[in-house]
Amino acid sequence: MSFIVAIDGPAGSGKGTVAKLISKDLSFVNIDTGATFRCVALAMLQKNIKKEEEKEIEKILKNIKIDMKADGTILLNNEVVTDRIRENDVNELVSPISTIKIVREKLLEIQRNIASGKNVVMEGRDIGTVVFPEADVKIYLDASAEERARRRLKQNKEKGIESSYEEVLQNIKDRDKRDSSREIAPLKKAEDAILIDSTNLEINEVVKAIEEIIEKVR
Ligand code: C5P
Repeated sequence: MSFIVAIDGPAGSGKGTVAKLISKDLSFVNIDTGATFRCVALAMLQKNIKKEEEKEIEKILKNIKIDMKADGTILLNNEVVTDRIRENDVNELVSPISTIKIVREKLLEIQRNIASGKNVVMEGRDIGTVVFPEADVKIYLDASAEERARRRLKQNKEKGIESSYEEVLQNIKDRDKRDSSREIAPLKKAEDAILIDSTNLEINEVVKAIEEIIEKVR
């Protein structure tokens, strides 16, 4: 029997960090679905394919291989791309290509396959609404755009990436808008998801709240 925890929310809501910590505590598999979209974006950049070239994108999707290791390593067609998919060119392309129907269909299949038969914490934008509408626990994690920008700025600094608060805030607002207004699988809270606003919470408080919910359901 598999147990599925779905965590959805906008960029910078803390869902990545929280999903990692919970899956470690409970020995669940952590699946970062954003990374699968990032892998498609990177595969397109490597082959110099634009987002309008659907036929070419279809070819890439046909043979794409995405693997996620338990230690967080991400492989695209057997090549380690864990850090590469966080770089700026991928950041810019990922949200536009996530609106393409064939991309979402292929990744839906890949995401469901990776989770098959396992206990998982899966994080993304449409897990509770589209990928696993029957998930055992559904969380929608949110925070104000300003707080999310401050968190992203801090992460960037730690990674040695130069950026300004204004630039990061604008990027977050743009992505929110694109992710929530797209036609297929937009970012939105599933009706039966539990909303947690993390604006004034520490990461460990969010983790504790979600683990208590999981405990009750299990
Ligand atoms: O979570 P992350 O920032 O890595 O996601 C990158 C982009 O991938 C998001 O901005 C969104 O456009 C897309 N995405 C999506 N559906 C998901 C996960 C990510 O459309 N389940």
